[in-house]
Formats: sequence, C-alpha cells, structure tokens
Amino acid sequence: NTLIVFQNVWKTYQMGEVQVNALKNMSVKLGKGEFVAIIGPSGSGKSTMMNLVGCLDVPSKGKIFLKGRDIAQLQESDLASLRGRTIGFVFQQYNLIPGMTALENVLLPLEIQEVDDSIAEKKAKELLDLVGLSDKLQNKPSQLSGGQQQRVSIARALACDPEIILADEPTGALDSITGQEVISILYRLWKEKNKTVVMVTHDLHLAGYASRHIQLKDGEMIRDIPNEAQINPE
Ligand code: ADP
Ligand code: ADP
Repeated sequence: NTLIVFQNVWKTYQMGEVQVNALKNMSVKLGKGEFVAIIGPSGSGKSTMMNLVGCLDVPSKGKIFLKGRDIAQLQESDLASLRGRTIGFVFQQYNLIPGMTALENVLLPLEIQEVDDSIAEKKAKELLDLVGLSDKLQNKPSQLSGGQQQRVSIARALACDPEIILADEPTGALDSITGQEVISILYRLWKEKNKTVVMVTHDLHLAGYASRHIQLKDGEMIRDIPNEAQINPE
C-alpha cells in the first residue's frame, strides 16, 4: 500500500561557493489513502520535498520510489507518463491557462493523454460538477473568483484519475472562508474518493484536516505523527 518511498534522500543546492542542504537524509513512506500535511516554517524544505514527491526533481543523494519504481532508473518519458497517471498537482497560484475556459483547462490533461473527445468532455464536466462549478464551464479564469479558480485546478488535477493529489499551499492565496471550501473538497476527495492527499502548508489550522503530520525544520523531519484530532469539515 506504499505509494512513495524516500530512502536517505538528500537535496543539496549549489549557490556559487555555498552549498545549501535543503533536505538532509530523509527517509519516509507515504501510503495509499493517507492525508498528509507537510508543515514547517519558510525555508524548512517543504517545497523541495514536494517537488521530489511529485518527481519534478531528483535527489542529490538517496533513492525515491514511486509505486515501487526507482525513479532514477526510469527514462524521462516513462517517468513523465507514470507521474501523469499517478499524481495530480494543485498549486497555490492555480496555474490555469488564462486564455482557456474552465472546461478547456480541465480537458487539457485528457487531450494530452489522448482520451477520446466525447469521453474527455463527459469526464471534464463530471469533475467540474464535483467541485461545484457546472454553471461556470465557459468562464475563463479571469471571470472566476480565486476559490473558483482553485476548484477548477482541483478538477484538472483529477482529470487522469491520479491516486495522489499533491497540493502546495492550496489555500495560500485565498481568504479563510474560501480556503475552507477548498480544503473541504480535498477532504472529500480523501474521504469519499480514496485519494491520497499530500499537502504542503504553513497554516496549522489547515493541517488539522490531515490524518498525518510531517513537520520539517532546516531540511530535517523533526516530527511524523498521526493527527489524533483530525477535523472533519462536514
Ligand atoms: P514557499 O516557502 O512558498 O515554498 P519559496 O520562496 O521557499 O516558497 O520557494 C519558491 C520556489 O523558489 C521553490 O520552488 C524553490 O525551489 C525556489 N527557491 C527557494 N529558495 C530559493 C533560492 N534561494 N534560490 C533559488 N530558488 C529558490
Ligand atoms: P520551504 O518550501 O519550506 O519554504 P524550500 O524547500 O523552498 O523551503 O527551501 C529549503 C532551502 O533550500 C532554503 O534554504 C532555500 O533557500 C533553499 N532552496 C530551495 N530551492 C532552491 C534552489 N532552487 N536553489 C538554491 N537554493 C534553494
């Protein structure tokens, strides 16, 4: 049931003469069906860990396994395909394509995977319905609120039925009420759709919705505990 394994992972950035150890000897397993919050102050290594979990970057030392595959042993194209099928990304700034409607934004990953047009359209509409945006299919991002844009980006992340949703500060650009709607959707995906959710946040209230807390400090995991007081937004 393990989806991601870090084995003695280091990430070192070279800044001229100076080396920054953004992650130091991290070993961790993330399993199917977990809702993990990665917490810690700015500069503690959260983004670095996220980029590695998402296989957007490779470790300087150590190994990472995604669904049992050592990612260092995969060709770039195989890795991209495994990543595309396994992980959906949600970013703080939504990263929607401004010239495209909500529907077109959600269709995009399906088109990239060469899903049949009619199937893709049905799927994209279902997903926009799931996030409560059936009446906004033809709106462009500029015609949507921040919370609505983030819901489109969640629908897009779900397009290829990923097992894992990786969310980097998903409510970071939202006010607290709108943020609450977004976290409720992530919670529902975890609870009802059996998605594994891995979320980076510096917001401890938000972390309260997760079932597991991984706390980073200066590139090290200083805590890894189940959240006994997990909040249910319903
Ligand atoms: P956050 O704390 O919201 O994750 P950061 O400012 O730490 O944002 O990082 C944003 C992005 O910039 C990350 O993807 C990270 O890899 C990159 N980054 C962070 N610090 C540096 C740096 N000193 N030099 C170059 N890139 C950096
Ligand atoms: P967080 O997301 O918790 O803010 P980051 O992972 O962005 O932390 O950064 C961890 C450390 O690595 C910081 O010291 C940051 O400056 C450094 N760092 C991150 N990305 C880069 C990069 N691309 N180049 C150089 N240093 C970086």
